[in-house]
Formats: sequence, structure tokens, C-alpha cells
Amino acid sequence: MKFYIMRHAHAEEGDRMDPHRAITKYGKWQSKVMQKFVKQVGCKMDLVLTSDFARGVETGDYFRPKKARHIQLRALRPCPFGYQAEESASEAWAAILKVLKPEYEHVLIIGHGPTIHEMVRACCFTFEPEEKILAHGNMVKVQTQEEHQFHWLMTPALAAHVLGIEDETDSEDGRADEMAEQGKDPESLAIDEAALELAAAMGISLKEALDHPDKRAVIDPLVAKVQKGLRIRWASQLKHLETYGLPMVQESLLHVSTLRPNGMPAPDHDKRQVLAALPLHSQPFAVKFRKATSAAYTAGADRAAAQLPSTVTEATPVKKHPPLPGPSREPEDVEDSLDDTTTERVGSIIDKAFLTPLTYAAMVGLVREEFQSWMNAKEGETSRAETVALQEVSTAYHDGGSDFVDNWRGGNGPVEKRWNAEDDACEECLANEAEGFIDSEAPHSSGDDEPPAHPNCRCEEEYQAVSVEESLR
Ligand SMILES: [Zn+2]
Repeated sequence: MKFYIMRHAHAEEGDRMDPHRAITKYGKWQSKVMQKFVKQVGCKMDLVLTSDFARGVETGDYFRPKKARHIQLRALRPCPFGYQAEESASEAWAAILKVLKPEYEHVLIIGHGPTIHEMVRACCFTFEPEEKILAHGNMVKVQTQEEHQFHWLMTPALAAHVLGIEDETDSEDGRADEMAEQGKDPESLAIDEAALELAAAMGISLKEALDHPDKRAVIDPLVAKVQKGLRIRWASQLKHLETYGLPMVQESLLHVSTLRPNGMPAPDHDKRQVLAALPLHSQPFAVKFRKATSAAYTAGADRAAAQLPSTVTEATPVKKHPPLPGPSREPEDVEDSLDDTTTERVGSIIDKAFLTPLTYAAMVGLVREEFQSWMNAKEGETSRAETVALQEVSTAYHDGGSDFVDNWRGGNGPVEKRWNAEDDACEECLANEAEGFIDSEAPHSSGDDEPPAHPNCRCEEEYQAVSVEESLR
């Protein structure tokens, strides 16, 4: 789960405990910019938590897609004077933990100073006690798995700068007031030096987040779709094997265990009879596969298009691709190679049954187990379904990118590419990344033109026009 912890946006002057203070025009601008930033880094909130105070609710409204839940918690109200911020922070977390559900991935928590600083500190070990890291409209991202890592801190001004958004408010709207009011407003506590330094260092991780805007958001649902298609396909194959295929050898297996000596593999004839029960080509699977890989292909081409400058001659601002060939893998070919492996694995279980020998029930159990392991991985492992789905979707995604680039090169000049290795990439992929930018038509050091380099490779190819890079030098 990822927590996005935010201080409500700039609000009208007034008492800290006044629930009616609305956010100002400047506060609205801050909220809008932060919402755009969050969207840019590929996050859709599943749950938005605010206090029931107007300035909290109004800020939260900006981050609420239709499907997200919004819960107002009294525990997120500002803490009254004389109250320990630390204490009210732990009360707030206790209330939050009660409403969290494991399926939530992105949770936005909007709070008030000074409690909000303590809340950040309580869930993330990067900050020291008393560190005031959140001014109005600022947001911190914390990953709750893996030791509660701090990911980034973003301010509306920096977000606007990064996204190229103009500050459309003028001094009368409250922008200047915000500066002047620092110290007067009971909630606008000065930000620590250390926290500002941290914000600067964050530029790096932020840039990374923007470099991969939403590859995962695009790719992962498609991988899940193909994975589901494979599961359904295998489940049906298993059912056919159990109902029609395996019973064919029940009789002869009985003879092996009673009459014949061990050491005899399954007769070819028997094996063939069992495997003939496997349904081979599935129309629903082919449809699902085509849909998912076409979407991945288009997404890959879109991504490459976004990285290369649009040509001057293009009159329409609408992003339209030249006709590209589309994903190169046919579902039937994928099914054939899958079924080769399936046939081989089931065949070797039947051999084992005759060699060992196994009872009929034990043989059926082994076949069932094998199929189950393809559909659902054991903990810490990747299932065959996921491996195959990722391979096919990633291949289509990168086909789209490289087809777009090949096409673009024709009319616009040379392009360079770089292998962006995934977080815990293998040595081969890291070596590809270490090459930096190379000509888009040259292979990488692993011999691959683009990812995936191996099963379960989640690396990504990045493109740039050569002239762009030169102008930066
Ligand atoms: Zn890789």
C-alpha cells in the first residue's frame, strides 16, 4: 500500500478549530496542480481520508476519481491548542487503520498541522521528531511495504514547475498572502532546512517517476488479462484430461502395478490417447490475447511518440500514428508453443506413473498439481501464467515502440535508445543499461534489440531524438 500524506491546501484566515474555513483561490490552484502531478506519476486514489473540516474536504475533492471512497474522520481534525501533536497523530493512525482494506493500493490522507508532521514521522522512518516537513498543499509519498520507505516530497510550486503549469493566481488571490502570513497563520509552520534539502534530493527520484509515467499502469492490467485467459484455457484443458484423457490409461496402469516388472515407460499408444484429449485452439483465448497485445502495442507506440519531438509538418495536434503493422505474435503460435510444453510435462507424468509405478489416483493428483502450479504461483514464485503473459505483453509493447521509431526515423533523422533496467534487474540487463544511449538500430550488449531480454524481464526501452540530446550538451 502507498500512503500519500498531504497537508490541506492554503485556506482562509481564521481560528484553527473553525470547521468552516474554506480553501482560497491559491489553495484551489495548489490542489489542482498536485492532482495533476499525482496523475502524471500514474496514481489513482482508492481511498481519500480527510477531516470533516471544510478546508480538508475541499482539498480532498480534487483527488477523488469516481470509484474512490471518501471517508471523513474526526480523528483527522486539527488538534486543539494545548494538545500534543504526537498524541493526536497516533489517534489519527489508529482511526485510519480501522478503515483500511488490503485491496487499497493508493491511499490519500489529508490532515492539518501540526498533527500531520507527526503522522508522517510515525509511518516513515526518514524524518526526525519535530521536523516540520509539510507546508500547505505539500504531499509526501510513503511505501508501506519494505520498511516504510519515503519516496518523495512534492510542493505545488515544484509540481507546477515540473509539469510546466503557469501560476494563474495573482497576488490578490492569496499567493502573496501565503508568504506574508507565514507565522501569523497558526497552521503555517516554517519548513525545516533539512526537509528542504530532502525535497531537493528528491528531484532525482521524481524524475525517475516521470520517466516511467505509467508503463506499469498500462502494462499490468494487460498482463492480468492475458494471465486470466491462460488460466481459463488451462483449467479447461485439465478438465478434458481428467474427464476423457487420463481414464484411458487407468486400465493399463493397473496391469503395470500388478503384473509387469518396473522400469517400463508408458507405451506410446497410451500416452497419445491421453494427450489427444487436450483441446488445442481456443477462440475466446485468441480474442483476449489479440485485444491485450494490440493495446500493449499501441501503448508502446504512444510512449515512443511522447519521447520524440512531433514533426513540424504535422498539422493536427491530435496524436495520430502512421499505420503500423501491429503486434507480430499470433495467438495460435503462442498456443502451439504453450501446448508443446504442456504435452511434454503431462507426458512425463504418465511415464513416471508407469515407471514408478503410481496408482491411477496418484497420477491424476500429479497432473492436477502441475496445472495448479501454472495457474497460481507458490509464495515468492512467479506462475507460468504470469511469466507467459508478461513476456507476450512486454514484447507487444516494445514492438509498438520500435515500429514507431523505425517509422519516425524515416522522415525525421536518427534516434537513440536506452535500456531502462527494472529495479532489481539481472546482470545482463544492467549491462545493457550501462551502455547508455545507443543508435536505435543497433542491438544491445545482450544481443536483444529491446526488452524483454529473458522471462520475467520488466525492463523498458527509452528513446530520444539525436538532435534533442545534442542541443542539451
Ligand atoms: Zn530486464
